[in-house]
Amino acid sequence: MSASGRSAREKLNFQLGLRRRGISDQAVLRALEDVPREQFVEPHDKEVAYADTALGIACGQTISQPYVVAYMTEQLRTHPRHRVLEIGTGSGYQAAVLSRLCRQVVTVERYRTLADTARARLAALGCRNVEVVVGDGYDVPDTLGTFDRIIVTAAMETIPDSLMERLEPDGIMLVPVGPPEGVQQLVRLRKGADGVEQEDLIPVRFVPALVGLAKEL
Ligand code: SAH
Repeated sequence: MSASGRSAREKLNFQLGLRRRGISDQAVLRALEDVPREQFVEPHDKEVAYADTALGIACGQTISQPYVVAYMTEQLRTHPRHRVLEIGTGSGYQAAVLSRLCRQVVTVERYRTLADTARARLAALGCRNVEVVVGDGYDVPDTLGTFDRIIVTAAMETIPDSLMERLEPDGIMLVPVGPPEGVQQLVRLRKGADGVEQEDLIPVRFVPALVGLAKEL
């Protein structure tokens, strides 16, 4: 089969797989269909870019499994007028998906190399509403403002107050909470008038969120 025939079939299977696993929000499915995942993986992984698995990227990090990206995006309940903060840019794939669904995405990464690569990719794809910031998700500067939604794509043992403070009233935050190695619980927090409501979603496996900027590039 030709390369384009193969890729059309792969993309169809990709969409069917997400639907079969319960992703039903049409806007989310469309966003995943629109973002060329093969541009976010390492060159030697292009052939398997649409497989439903996490893949290794630079700096020993990972691009998340497509199902988890779709699931988290759906559970984040975004609106086109939202400003969204992502902690853990990695490849930039999740940020590209969110950029299709929200007014603005600010994504924070502790590795400068990953941030620079993601910024270039997102610019090449024309994602003009994404800002990639080199920083520490445990210490997000006030100058970034507040957000309607926050999505953390690295595992945290506890949720820092400094991050909760970046969330608007009525805002929603998704965080994988649990040990740095092994399985974490994906948690959804809603900042209500009477305090924070917490809901457990699915078990997930993310690389750990580490404190501070990365020492190496
Ligand atoms: N969302 C990414 C995958 C995230 S992998 C994607 O779509 O490809 C987790 C990322 O979080 C890694 O790149 C890691 O370097 C980053 N990270 C870990 N701790 C962090 C912290 N404290 N602040 C910002 N980024 C962090």
